[in-house]
Amino acid sequence: MRLLTIPKEFYTKLKETAISNTNSMIHYAFSEHLCRSRMLLKYFGEISKEDCGVCDYCIEKERNKPIDSQLLKQMVNDIKSQIKTIENTSINEHVNKLSSQYKRDKLKFAIQWMLDNGIILVDDASKLKLN
Ligand SMILES: [Zn+2]
Repeated sequence: MRLLTIPKEFYTKLKETAISNTNSMIHYAFSEHLCRSRMLLKYFGEISKEDCGVCDYCIEKERNKPIDSQLLKQMVNDIKSQIKTIENTSINEHVNKLSSQYKRDKLKFAIQWMLDNGIILVDDASKLKLN
């Protein structure tokens, strides 16, 4: 096997080009408001219609999404029946018990909504009660 020798100048140029390509790809992926995964696919010439759901953009989008009324209704019912079954329980304990079914931030939103609408009350010991 013959070794191919690359002039140092040429090698440096290749390396610079590679770095610059990588940098422009990173810039491309993080500059626009789109799912990162879709951005990268787009960069490589592929079109994806679905968001990945796990990148920082998707997570932020999910967090800012207004809560679905059907989901809220469902959570309100579950929280109510949980308060009926286990009395003298704090908000955090209720959230913990339902966290396998719903996202914690959504549960907290639902509890806040129930408090605001007088469906439930917080007693002196910070335990939830049905109004
Ligand atoms: Zn994404």
